[in-house]
Amino acid sequence: MESSYTLGRIHSIETMGTVDGPGIRFVVFTQGCPMRCLFCHNPDTWKTGAGAGTLMSVEQIVDEFESNRAFYRNGGITVSGGEPLLQPEFLADLFGAMHARPAGRVHTCLDTCGYAFDPDRPELTARVLDETDLVLLDIKHADPAGHRALTGRDPGRILAFGDELARRGIKTVIRHVVVPGYTDTVEECEALGRLIAPWRNVVGLEMLPYHTMGVAKYEQLGIAYPLAGVEPMDKARVPELREAVLRGMREARRR
Ligand code: SF4
Repeated sequence: MESSYTLGRIHSIETMGTVDGPGIRFVVFTQGCPMRCLFCHNPDTWKTGAGAGTLMSVEQIVDEFESNRAFYRNGGITVSGGEPLLQPEFLADLFGAMHARPAGRVHTCLDTCGYAFDPDRPELTARVLDETDLVLLDIKHADPAGHRALTGRDPGRILAFGDELARRGIKTVIRHVVVPGYTDTVEECEALGRLIAPWRNVVGLEMLPYHTMGVAKYEQLGIAYPLAGVEPMDKARVPELREAVLRGMREARRR
């Protein structure tokens, strides 16, 4: 049952987001993440549980959105993180409320790593997905061992989440961070293409070059920077690697 009083643990809000979904977006960053990606530039979102983040109700967030509604005419709301699916009730109530706004339905976008999806209990996230118009799904590495090395986690749940999105036909944009020495080979990118080829709901592919803008946050938190010495990705190589993903996808679909 939808409730405007459901509370979420929120890291921060960006009122003029332009990179997380179409148009200008109200972006809510939730607190807490079960992954530990070596390239993460938001380690301050990792912590979960009591005292982490700021508690905000669905109503508070809707009110903030409504106070600037005109800006989001061609955009909508995005929930990112951290990992939003750690808080499925809050997310479902928020997206449900945005879809039911008397002033007009608001486009909802979920930016997720998918790891909080439990394939044995899909009902936990069903209500969220019922209210989600677009998913930005991060696939960190095409190879299971590479995935574990890069994120500290097995990719099984993430791929099961991708399957669930495809089964439901929810529009999905695949995001892939290109990290020198980890995910910047043609072979890995072609393998990524083969991996996502069965998902006919994929409507876009974003290749995100690794950058070092998160270093200062690690220093503030007193955490050793895991990719010390790795240079930012050369953006000139991104088109070639993007083409490798698309080639892998095309070839898998021809078989
Ligand atoms: S999933 Fe996102 S927030 Fe979590 S560790 Fe990875 S990059 Fe950071």
